[in-house]
Amino acid sequence: MSLIEIDRIQELLPQWLETSRQQCGYGKVASYIPELSNSPIDALGIHIMDAQGQSASAGDTGLSFTMQSISKVFTLILALMDNGENVVFDKVGMEPTGDNFNSMLKLELVQPGIPFNPLINAGAIAISSLIAGSNPAEKSARVLDFLRQLSNNSSLNYDLEVYRSEKDTANLNRSMAYFLKDNGVLQGQVEDVLDVYFRHCSVSVTCADLAQMALVLAHNGKNPLTGEELIPRRYVQIAKTFMITCGMYNASGEFAIQVGLPAKSGVSGGILSMVPGRYGIGLVGPSLNRKGNSIAGVALLEAISQEFDWSLF
Ligand code: GLN
Repeated sequence: MSLIEIDRIQELLPQWLETSRQQCGYGKVASYIPELSNSPIDALGIHIMDAQGQSASAGDTGLSFTMQSISKVFTLILALMDNGENVVFDKVGMEPTGDNFNSMLKLELVQPGIPFNPLINAGAIAISSLIAGSNPAEKSARVLDFLRQLSNNSSLNYDLEVYRSEKDTANLNRSMAYFLKDNGVLQGQVEDVLDVYFRHCSVSVTCADLAQMALVLAHNGKNPLTGEELIPRRYVQIAKTFMITCGMYNASGEFAIQVGLPAKSGVSGGILSMVPGRYGIGLVGPSLNRKGNSIAGVALLEAISQEFDWSLF
């Protein structure tokens, strides 16, 4: 059945992609990380992979882009594998904020210093400090190794220009990190924690890399091609639930209604999504809507999910 459907997806995909691409002109490329402003505004690419390793793809799938917030899903999982649920959820909450991903508003307002969830910037910075390793380089190397394993791509690496560009301009994230430190949420030196965070945000991928990572999540932590368990099922369940409730920032409710699949976006225009039990999906479209999600990418996922009735709900 899946073989037939993937062929059908491949048939329809180029046409849907070109229709969705027309949305690119209504969005903007992120520029608060200066290097990201060089991203091609009209680009759109998608790669969908099934459990047999068959793929459907269309558009600018050769484009490399940085994972940005998509990496937060995997640092959360690694922090859970390193520390267990009690330690992790002592430092970050489990609730969506309804605010922008870089908002500080609720940090002080509700429960002092505890970020609402691990997918907003404050939460992900707290998670970076929980990655095991005796120094920032070792922690970052562990994250990169984990991403290489999940993507089945041993050459994944940092985009050092994006890394430096973010590190040089991250006043808001830096201020949040100091606030977290003051509240006892961060372990270690603030700049060391931020370095781990900037590095994982700057890991460069293609749509196929994201699709492969998503495929592992879609199969509850197992690589369906090899049968190898890469992540305990419980931690995949936690990650997928956060992807539904907070993965598309403060547009997660709308995305759940229109698409109905777990997903995580990044300001580079990347989106990782999946059809649980079936497909891994990697997408890029750097033109962003007002909430910071790929404007054409969201439109494309809506079209495909509705056509194939993929919504979980
Ligand atoms: N590195 C980015 C930041 O901290 C990640 C944000 C995002 O993708 N939404 O601002």
